[in-house]
Amino acid sequence: MGRVFNFSAGPAMLPAEVLERAREEMLDWHGSGMSVMEMSHRGKEYVSIAEKAEADLRELMKVPANYKILFLQGGASSQFSMVPMNILRGKTSADYLNTGHWSEKAVAEGKRYCNVNIVADTKGSKYTTLPKAGELSFNADAAYVHYTPNETIAGVEFGYVPDTGDIPLVADMSSTLLSRPVDVSKFGIIYAGAQKNIGPAGLTIAIVREDLIGHAQAGTPVMFDYKTHADNGSMYNTPPTYAWYVAGLVFEWLKERGGLEGMALINERKAKKLYDFIDGNDFYSNPVDRDCRSWMNVPFILANSELDKAFLKEAEAAGLSTLAGHRSVGGMRASIYNAMPEAGVDALVDFMADFARRNG
Ligand SMILES: *Cc1c(COP(=O)(O)O)cnc(C)c1O
Repeated sequence: MGRVFNFSAGPAMLPAEVLERAREEMLDWHGSGMSVMEMSHRGKEYVSIAEKAEADLRELMKVPANYKILFLQGGASSQFSMVPMNILRGKTSADYLNTGHWSEKAVAEGKRYCNVNIVADTKGSKYTTLPKAGELSFNADAAYVHYTPNETIAGVEFGYVPDTGDIPLVADMSSTLLSRPVDVSKFGIIYAGAQKNIGPAGLTIAIVREDLIGHAQAGTPVMFDYKTHADNGSMYNTPPTYAWYVAGLVFEWLKERGGLEGMALINERKAKKLYDFIDGNDFYSNPVDRDCRSWMNVPFILANSELDKAFLKEAEAAGLSTLAGHRSVGGMRASIYNAMPEAGVDALVDFMADFARRNG
């Protein structure tokens, strides 16, 4: 069997070109006589791989010089704790926007360290809406403001960056990082687990403004202190070397495709195709407000949910894999990250149209 179009929310598809390159370099990386997996992380070969990946990410995202890029482990979930541990800086509260499943998790963990003020909450709409920029206001004594620009499960995405003035803005970009340009200078911390839109699971990227480093609260484990990783080039201990290398291949792949500006054009077009089809058809629907629909995660339901099982089974047989919605919401979800080719979205739309014709 050939490769399927894999609509998984994560771990998700990687570009075929990246996997082929990793295969070519698997046994003998650039004449080193060994696999990247077998290299010392302190050897000159691996250090060159790591530095190139960081430089390429800095270039892709135009990361300003006063930000460190950290290559960590522990997933985005560890950042839910690492953020308050590091940047409360003696303050006792932080503001959080609660806009979905992942925000809820961040809020729950934040509450273990400080008073959490929920400054926006869209639970009442079942997380199908987002606050408008003008509706947001923040507490002047908040240590930081945390939000989730793209909620992977409900499929809502902010079309703007909240203006928090001097309060550091922290963003969980796990399912949107690298999908379009972002102005990093508006953020205090950006973090993301790699397995959605960056590379293999096991790597977590944090982009941290330098003035927020070095303030970890007393008792913070050394591995949870940003300063530990910033001072040691993310090599205080053994980093996730192979995942870092593959992420580097993805960064090169993105640079060859017009960078994030190029990806944004493709991603917007892919998402529009799928939403336009869903909206133009009584058989399917998407519950999310039109002005905050995600480019990356597209949930949809069938008007007749008794057909869900048949839909998923026939889709799988047609090479369209992992379309079931998250277990908490049901229905379907198509995750269409950077690595999903436009042909995958075309194949999905064709299949959906055919299924509707046969079952409508
Ligand atoms: C997947 C996801 C997480 C959890 O990531 P882990 O790396 O598994 O901890 C957190 N936030 C968002 C927005 C996600 O999509």
